[in-house]
Amino acid sequence: MLLFLLDAIDRQQQKIRRSHPGKNSSIVEQIFDGKVRCEYTCQTCEKKSICYEPIRGLSIELPRNPEFPPEMSKIVKDYFNDEKIFGYDCRNCKTKTVACKRTRIVTAPRVLIIQLKRFLRFTKINTPVVPTKY
Ligand SMILES: [Zn+2]
Repeated sequence: MLLFLLDAIDRQQQKIRRSHPGKNSSIVEQIFDGKVRCEYTCQTCEKKSICYEPIRGLSIELPRNPEFPPEMSKIVKDYFNDEKIFGYDCRNCKTKTVACKRTRIVTAPRVLIIQLKRFLRFTKINTPVVPTKY
């Protein structure tokens, strides 16, 4: 819901910017937008492919049926674990293969929005999350 509201505010500010050129970014972009670097490594030829993607928060799947309720910091840390991508279409070796995807934040937003996905299709994931104390 928050992301929906921020997108609506951002769209309105972009309309205003188009009619008043000179400002580079909206207040929503300045506070909530960041950038991630995604590195794909082909498991066949080991060629790396790198792309940069804008983010407005992280949308994280909750672990199902964990032994202990996970801490929020662990969930976020696990989000950045390397991930195997099956059916990766490598442009270098021209094969459909497996790639290792590594995601890292390169430009952190001032405020990071974390959305926990509590539904998998029509099934609710009731995993409790323990807030991290600092
Ligand atoms: Zn390859």
